[in-house]
Amino acid sequence: MISTAINELVRHLSGYVLLPGEAEYEEAIRIDNGRIQFRPRLIIFPAVVEDVRVGLKFAITHNLPFSVKGGGHSAAGYCMNEGGVVMAMKNLNKITFRPNPETGEGTVTAEMGVIWYDVYKFMQNTGTGLIPIGGGCPTVAPPGFMLGGGYSFVSRTYGMSVDNLVSLKIVTPDGEMRHIGLHSTAKEDIDLFWACRGGGGGNFGIVTEMEMAVRKPRTEKMLVGQIRFPLEKAEEVLGYYNNWVSEKNFPNEMAVYGFMGNQKDLVDKTTNVKVLGLTPVFNGDFAEGINLVQGLLKLKPINADLYNMTLPEWEFFNGNTTKVAGRSSYIRSTVLPEGGMNTDVAKVIIDAITNAPSPDSFAVWTHAGGAMENVAPDGTAYVHRHARFIPEIKAIWDLDKPGDTLKNVEWAHDFFEAFGKAGNATGAYVNYIDPLQHDWTKMYYGDNYARLLEIKQRVDPHNYFHFQQSIGSTFNPPAGPVTDLSPLNRTQIKPGA
Ligand SMILES: Cc1cc2nc3c(=O)[nH]c(=O)nc-3n(C[C@H](O)[C@H](O)[C@H](O)COP(=O)(O)OP(=O)(O)OC[C@H]3O[C@@H](n4cnc5c(N)ncnc54)[C@H](O)[C@@H]3O)c2cc1C
Repeated sequence: MISTAINELVRHLSGYVLLPGEAEYEEAIRIDNGRIQFRPRLIIFPAVVEDVRVGLKFAITHNLPFSVKGGGHSAAGYCMNEGGVVMAMKNLNKITFRPNPETGEGTVTAEMGVIWYDVYKFMQNTGTGLIPIGGGCPTVAPPGFMLGGGYSFVSRTYGMSVDNLVSLKIVTPDGEMRHIGLHSTAKEDIDLFWACRGGGGGNFGIVTEMEMAVRKPRTEKMLVGQIRFPLEKAEEVLGYYNNWVSEKNFPNEMAVYGFMGNQKDLVDKTTNVKVLGLTPVFNGDFAEGINLVQGLLKLKPINADLYNMTLPEWEFFNGNTTKVAGRSSYIRSTVLPEGGMNTDVAKVIIDAITNAPSPDSFAVWTHAGGAMENVAPDGTAYVHRHARFIPEIKAIWDLDKPGDTLKNVEWAHDFFEAFGKAGNATGAYVNYIDPLQHDWTKMYYGDNYARLLEIKQRVDPHNYFHFQQSIGSTFNPPAGPVTDLSPLNRTQIKPGA
């Protein structure tokens, strides 16, 4: 019966479908986190936007689980499902640029099969020097990234990625294509556009296109790089860093991200050293940037690799370093206020990294604040406007060692519970979505959850776009130590369960 229906579906598509057993299917179900291996009943590859509507209607008519796959970086695999329909957007990849002669900037409009690499490359090729406020990893895709908020290396200067979203096109569960954005005047469009700026991917419909502002950097090239310290210096280094980035005159044009974990020893590349790395990205002149990082250099790092590059060059050079790249992974985040990267946090880091069960695991943090605070916490669905640091742990272990899952998950979970406690955590980041996050609605969305739920119930009254942690799901894993790993191995649960 369903086979007949699939044949009928194919007749109505300009694109194609893949089914289990077909050669390319196995490749199509792979995502960044190799631990996640779901087998949908069929994968639809739309060739034109109309295919998106046709495919959604098919899933709804046959009451099949449904997910949308962009760049495939959902840490929990919510872009996939078991036994249902996956809409894989990758062949919808047209990009156009509209310059604005009055401002010298403009907008770029991309279909939602693109990844950030495509948008950076496209803008590089315009020769304008304008940049999108996009992701640090070039293989991450705009839809998942922006629907969850989106932190860019230059967000302290230009705001979050969603603050640069001008409009989007979305196919909602009723099958309508809506063009919503800053131009919208109808209340329901204003509400939906609000929800799409931080409410998280996969909740309200299928976004087919985004129009985003592209910005002129202060200087063509920026100071970028990494300054590495031995991990045991973490208390001294974070003691300085935490105060430095809180100084009143610390410029919005400077962001200083962090890394904790193993890196190759500079001399003996066959061994690892445990390091605390700081990554400055200064949106301005190299020499000015060098002056700003003097305090860090005086702390006697192991080495300082500092480059003068355009932002896209930096993304291509450095952006793949945090990929899980098909290994097994568990990811968790926390959100810290100003002053949160304190010396108690440093002690937690030293202890956890020293005792990590896998040498491949690492943690990073994003440096927030600056222009991101120009929007109120309820100005868009992205609530953590006053956050300063967004740490993320990536526990990574070998794919062929499923028996190592529990110890690695427990380690990462406990590490980040302690991290959050020491740093006075105020939440967690939906783009590092974690099926073991207790009270996830509060942690991801804070006071914005009530409005998100109300919009969800209006836009998707039958809850077609549901998954384990979709808006409206009552799933809530317990607080405290990890007792049940099963949420890590599922996407869908019965609505209302
Ligand atoms: C290596 C790496 C680096 C990262 N760097 C950053 C960073 O610098 N800053 C930051 O803020 N985040 C970062 N992230 C997190 C990233 O933003 C999220 O993982 C994001 O959800 C990825 O989106 P995606 O489209 O690539 O993934 P997907 O897994 O394809 O999608 C994520 C979610 O969005 C939904 N979705 C996808 N496409 C659509 C669509 N067209 N319409 C509606 N829903 C859709 C999916 O169903 C899924 O629920 C990084 C992640 C990784 C793995």
